[in-house]
Amino acid sequence: MIKKLLGLLPGNKKQKKTEQFDLNIIPRAEHNVSRNDISDQALKVLYRLNKAGFDAYLVGGGVRDLLLGKHPKDFDIATNASPEEVHRLFRNSRLIGRRFRLVHVLYGREIIEVATFRGQHDDNAEEDQSKVSASSEHGMLLRDNVYGTQAEDAIRRDFTVNALYYCIKDFSIYDYAGGLDDIHNRTLQIIGDPETRYREDPVRMLRAIRFATKLEFSIAENTARPIRELAPLLTHIPAARLFEEVLKLFMSGHGLDNFRMLREYGLLEALFPETEKALQKNPAFGIPFIEEALNNTDQRIRQDKPVTPAFLYAVFLWLPLQTEWSKMKAQGNSEFPALHLAAQHIINKQSAATSIPKRFGIPMKEIWEMQVRLPKRQGRRAEQLITHPRFRAAYDFLCLRESAGESLQGLGEWWTQYQKADEHQRKALLKDAGGSTKRPPRKRPSAVKKNPPKQR
Ligand code: ATP
Ligand code: MG
Repeated sequence: MIKKLLGLLPGNKKQKKTEQFDLNIIPRAEHNVSRNDISDQALKVLYRLNKAGFDAYLVGGGVRDLLLGKHPKDFDIATNASPEEVHRLFRNSRLIGRRFRLVHVLYGREIIEVATFRGQHDDNAEEDQSKVSASSEHGMLLRDNVYGTQAEDAIRRDFTVNALYYCIKDFSIYDYAGGLDDIHNRTLQIIGDPETRYREDPVRMLRAIRFATKLEFSIAENTARPIRELAPLLTHIPAARLFEEVLKLFMSGHGLDNFRMLREYGLLEALFPETEKALQKNPAFGIPFIEEALNNTDQRIRQDKPVTPAFLYAVFLWLPLQTEWSKMKAQGNSEFPALHLAAQHIINKQSAATSIPKRFGIPMKEIWEMQVRLPKRQGRRAEQLITHPRFRAAYDFLCLRESAGESLQGLGEWWTQYQKADEHQRKALLKDAGGSTKRPPRKRPSAVKKNPPKQR
C-alpha cells in the first residue's frame, strides 16, 4: 500500500506563499530500488550522514534510472546537513560551486555529489539576501543557496522524475511531485510553471531534450510548449557551462536523437549559431554529414571506444568554416594561411556560445588542415601523413565528407587501400594517384598577405 500524506510547506514567516503538495511514501516492498545496485561509495556517504544525525537520501538520476531498470551514470545525494557540515564529516571532500554550493566526496575516480536541501526564495526579504540568492533581469537564478526542507527541495528540482528520494533509513521512496506516475507513463514533466522554471535556468530546456531521448520518454505538452520561444535565453548562460552541456548532449550515446530534437525545438541555434545558419543554407550536405558523424559517435560509445569532442566540433563547424575560408581566400590569402585565419575566426565565434578548451581547439584545426594535405600524396608525403597523430581522425573526417556527398574523386577509398597495402602495393597506389615516388621540388612557403587587395 502507498501511504498518502498531505504535506504543507513549513510556515516560514517571511515566505509569501504556502504551497500544498501530496507526498507519497512507497515502502521498500513496493519498488525495485535495491542497495545492491547503489555504489558502495554512495551507500557509505548516506550511512555516515545518517549516523551523524542528518537525513540523507539518494535523489535524481540514481533513483530515476534504478526505477527504470537502467544503470545510473552517477549518484547524487540530498541532505539536511549544510555544505560545511558535510565537508567536515568527509576528509575526502571539497566544497564547490558558487551559483549552487555543493560538496563533492571523492573516492578515486568516483565523485558523490552531496547537495543540501534547497529552500524557496523569499522575494520580500528585508535583509540583504544577495549573497545567498539572486536573479537576473531575465528571471534567471544567479545564485541558489537558500536552504530548506526536503519538501521545498523537491519542488526546486527540474522534472518530477528527478524529484524522487530514496531514504537510507527504511529504504522507502519519497515522491512529492508525482514522479512515480510519470515514470510509469514515461513522461517528462517539469515541476511548477514551465515558463518560470525555464527562465530561472534556461539549461533546463536542454535537460528536457537530453532526458527525453535518453529515457525514451515523451515530453509533456506543457513542458514542451514554451521551449521554442524561450530558446534564445540560452545565450545568457556562460559559455563554459554550455560546453559541458554540449558534451552531455553529444557524447553520451544519444547524440543523433539529441541533434534532431534540438533542431526541432530551435535550440541548436543557441548552441551552434553558425552551424544552424549553414544548415539552413545547405541542408543537403550539412545534415547527412553531421548526422552520420553523430551516428558513428553513438555507436563508438556503445562499443566503449574512445571519442573526442575535437572531432565533433570539427564536424559541426566544417560548413561555417567553408564560408569563412572562401572569404579569406577572396581577400587574397593563399590556401593554408586562409584556412588558419578562417579556423581561428570560426573558433572565436563559436567560443562566444560554447567555450572550446584549447586542448580541443588545436586538434580540431589539425583535422581541418589535414583535409588540405590528404589529397597531396606525392613523394614521401603519403608516408608522412599516415604517421601523423591526427591521421586517423582526419581520414574518418574525409570519409564522412565523401559519404555526405562531397565529390573527392575517391580519395577516401584510396586512403583505405593505402592503409591496408604493403610497400609494393603502396608504390603502385601512388602511381595510380598520378604522383611520383620521388620527392617533389620544394616550394617556398607562401605567407599571409598583410595588405590584401581591396574587394570591389
Ligand atoms: P544524469 O546524472 O543521469 O545526467 P541527473 O538527473 O542525475 O541525470 P544531474 O545533473 O546529476 O542529473 O543532477 C542531479 C539532480 O539535481 C537532478 O536529478 C535534479 O533533481 C537536480 N538538478 C540538476 N540540475 C538542475 C537544474 N538545472 N534545475 C533544477 N534541478 C536540477
Ligand atoms: Mg546525476
